[in-house]
Amino acid sequence: MTGQIDAYWRNYIDGKWADGGAGRITVDDPATGEPLAEQALADEADVDRAVAAARRVHESGVLTAMRPVERGRMVQAMGRFLLDHLDEIAPVLTREAGKPLWEARIEVEGAARYFEYYGNQAETVEGRSIPLGAGYLDFTLHEPYGVSAQIIPWNYPLEMTARSLSAALATGNACVVKTPELDPLTNAWLARAAEWAGFPPGAVNILCGLGSQAGAALCAHPGIDQIVFTGSVPTGIAIATAAARNIVPCILELGGKSAAIVHDDADLDAFMNDVRWGIWFNAGQVCSAMSRVIVHEKRHDELIDRVTALAASLSVGPGIERGEFGANMGAMISERQRDRAVSMVSGAEREGAPTAAGGRKLNRPGWFMEPTVMTGVTPDMTIAREEVFGPVLSVMPFSGHDEAIAIANGTDYGLVAGVFTRDLDRATRAASRLRAGQVFVNEWYAGGVETPFGGYGKSGYGREKGREALWNYVQTKNVAIKTA
Ligand code: NAD
Repeated sequence: MTGQIDAYWRNYIDGKWADGGAGRITVDDPATGEPLAEQALADEADVDRAVAAARRVHESGVLTAMRPVERGRMVQAMGRFLLDHLDEIAPVLTREAGKPLWEARIEVEGAARYFEYYGNQAETVEGRSIPLGAGYLDFTLHEPYGVSAQIIPWNYPLEMTARSLSAALATGNACVVKTPELDPLTNAWLARAAEWAGFPPGAVNILCGLGSQAGAALCAHPGIDQIVFTGSVPTGIAIATAAARNIVPCILELGGKSAAIVHDDADLDAFMNDVRWGIWFNAGQVCSAMSRVIVHEKRHDELIDRVTALAASLSVGPGIERGEFGANMGAMISERQRDRAVSMVSGAEREGAPTAAGGRKLNRPGWFMEPTVMTGVTPDMTIAREEVFGPVLSVMPFSGHDEAIAIANGTDYGLVAGVFTRDLDRATRAASRLRAGQVFVNEWYAGGVETPFGGYGKSGYGREKGREALWNYVQTKNVAIKTA
């Protein structure tokens, strides 16, 4: 199943498909390394037109005048549109991002789920009344910021856009989305979905451009009211700086170096499933990947034997040939990303951590890397501290509970953490001490769209997902009335 895909993809600005002022960029197929399609590249003038269109929609009041239930139904309709087109979208996502087809299908379903959830939430954003004594009536309103600027990473291009777009539209904002240069194509279906759901031209603008050009221009634009950024720490710093200069709030969803603590009483049979999802899903290119396992010394050798066998059992190859859920993994997004991960593994070997499984690139076209397990890792090593953003698991032993927590908390990041034990007291004590925005007990990725997600430390600030995310997209106005 290879399928033909369009040779050229345009941006969507003010309800029209548009060429890019900065020309085109070639999108490569990570499974072959060959060009796949061309994408229009926006320049500053394109960004300007998109922001102007979104402002016009916001200031017209069309989105805010609508009863929230109506807006919510439109948001939900966008999700249904994605599901109706799942068989078209998933192969394109696989071809542009390298992930197995079954993972691409999960991503499309996950994107649709955001529209379902936030569509449902649209009519729940209520203010409160504040008693001020006789002679006053006081109440709060939650109003949309206006124009939401959203900068999207390449690892889940469709789902990350869906996450911000659904909550922003549900709360009545107009949006300008800057898609990732490496895999921008499937975002076109979000523009089509907005059109199909009945959003007016200009309410949703989706454009691709270089981060340093279109991305920077969008974040510095005086016509935006709020920024949502998902991506790396260095870009997060640039965006927070732009937001500060522009005096607009910004949400930063950044990287991670997340750890699972595996106690001596943990169910290792079940844990193998967590490892499989935790570090080899999307070839490890997941912000909340289980990139470290901190295992009790009594179970260390057994765990190493099992994870290395698991790593070796995964069949690695073109995502388009991997339609069924199973023991397989696709390509990484780019040659650069793959080579960086391989060189981090070589660096760790030089620092004294042996590779127990994988560690090398595959000898075939495309940007493949073997599922990798590093042992003998110590907390001070680069591989234990820096995000690889690849299929590389670092395993470290511990002997005492406090030591395990200290290792888990010992990086600059704090996105997620996990505890695996049959002892609920031990798990809840760990949950309160782990410095992370989410703690998983006995299941990595437990939770869903309903549960708040975001980082401590260098993993960023603000929360996406759950009801918490709604407050990113509204500001509170207080109305105090002297009644007598
Ligand atoms: P990146 O920071 O390189 O790029 C992200 C986006 O920012 C791209 O669209 C890029 O064009 C844009 N950009 C780059 N420079 C810019 C600038 N100066 N101004 C405005 N926009 C700019 O990140 P990436 O490599 O695409 O994604 C991988 C990173 O994202 C990893 O660190 C990963 O952990 C993180 N991530 C975090 C989450 C989360 O929810 N916490 C989710 C997915 C990915």
